[in-house]
Amino acid sequence: MNFEKPKIENVESKDGKTERAEKLKKKIREMTAWGVITLSSLGILKTIEKVREQEYKPKAIIADIEKKQSLSEIEKAELNKKLEYLKNNFSENIFSQLKNGAETNKESKPEPIEVKGFERVGFSNEDLKELWSEKYYPKGWLDDEINVVEYRDKELKGDLKREYGRDEEVKYGGTTHMEKEGKSKIEFYFKGPKEHDSKKDFIETLDWYFSHEASHANDWESESQMDFKNRVDFLCEVSQSCFKGGAFRDVMGYVDSIKNNDKNKERYYKVREYWGSCCEYYFTFPEIFKQNNPAEFAMVDKYVKMEDTNYNPVEKLAQRKGLIEQMSDKQVKN
Ligand SMILES: [Zn+2]
Repeated sequence: MNFEKPKIENVESKDGKTERAEKLKKKIREMTAWGVITLSSLGILKTIEKVREQEYKPKAIIADIEKKQSLSEIEKAELNKKLEYLKNNFSENIFSQLKNGAETNKESKPEPIEVKGFERVGFSNEDLKELWSEKYYPKGWLDDEINVVEYRDKELKGDLKREYGRDEEVKYGGTTHMEKEGKSKIEFYFKGPKEHDSKKDFIETLDWYFSHEASHANDWESESQMDFKNRVDFLCEVSQSCFKGGAFRDVMGYVDSIKNNDKNKERYYKVREYWGSCCEYYFTFPEIFKQNNPAEFAMVDKYVKMEDTNYNPVEKLAQRKGLIEQMSDKQVKN
């Protein structure tokens, strides 16, 4: 397996793109100062242990799929190859996880996200609800997948160190985990803007992390509208992209920082955070991402456009920035 170092130098070396590169670097500096890292759908980790006993093997998988659609010998061979690939990288447990995902396809109707708790740190829940709506994010990306985004006044502990091998103290961040009816809950942990942060920068950073967390609610496990076979295709595609030499890496090196003694888990978490990082860059730095990493941009774009064919991340980012500008002029009472 070849895990590449972050490609910061790429951002810096593009001709005529200095301004955008500067913006990205500025953001990254802010992020570093802020001390934030993003976490993953840690709630789902628990299912890894839970599903161990109920094994789901390739033979049963193919039989199940053939109940719904006929497969040619070529398609069967192709599917077998993919199952083998997933098994080799993540162990057979991955099949039960994908099955869980396919079976919790929800019956609940799409609804705007409920946003709460942010008034305690000086933000308007209503404004954030507007920002984190399908006016600015793709249709099918939020209302089907996420029910609550909440600010929690507590620190993160436990899972992160155990599963991701991260030692540093985590004071700021976000998590996504599966809740009821197949919808996910995003929780933010932070202490509010520091004196030297402008409110605008702070909301932009929150939105940046939201774009990462929302991607966990739209992956091969959590996405609500996919059958088992499409989940296999999805995870194979993202894994192969993640493991190929020279693949995109987030500039903070988050993906490669993940360590777990169980290498199947480590690879899986890396792929999951790689997807999170790709989505985060797609929504937050779309032009730089498209230019520097066209293959990865196209991968995210494909999944976004499955539900929202006309989605334009550059246009939508500009609109979000306009909205954030307005939001940051407002004073909110605690
Ligand atoms: Zn994550």
